[in-house]
Amino acid sequence: MKPFGNTEVNKRYTVVIGCGRLGANLANALSDEDGNVLIIDKNKDAFRKLSPSYGGLTVVGDATDLGVLQEAQINKADVVVAVTNNDNANIMVAQIARELFQIDRVIARLYDPERECVYREFEIDTICPAILSAKEIDKILAKTDLSTANSQEGEA
Ligand code: AMP
Repeated sequence: MKPFGNTEVNKRYTVVIGCGRLGANLANALSDEDGNVLIIDKNKDAFRKLSPSYGGLTVVGDATDLGVLQEAQINKADVVVAVTNNDNANIMVAQIARELFQIDRVIARLYDPERECVYREFEIDTICPAILSAKEIDKILAKTDLSTANSQEGEA
């Protein structure tokens, strides 16, 4: 049984690791979408970032500690998202989720893009803020270049 009781049993159960700006926003969104969500953070004050309407669960503790993950019933999770501000912690939790608990969908934030190969090896999806930001900036610049070129053409 999932940690939300019988009535919630058919909903996707997502465990989010790290209740920072990204983790809290994600947990709020998943809760708003009516999913089962549980969020872990080692600092209990971090849960203040959750919205008053957040309907999920919280667990205080270091997510690299197996006992904390067991308390969160990670073995029942459909999805695990590791978004602490610590690449090592994200790698460790993501590997535990994949290898020990055989969770199919594991997503981890990665500050250091060079570590992506570790995740690929373990079939873990990654999001890398540095790469995403670079792509977005590139898109904005391309748009600006296009509109400058268009306005110069119009003047000619
Ligand atoms: P942010 O940088 O705003 O995305 O916040 C990252 C969050 O991850 C903070 O709230 C940290 O307390 C939390 N965090 C960092 N390491 C761990 C860990 N090993 N276990 C649980 N939470 C963590």
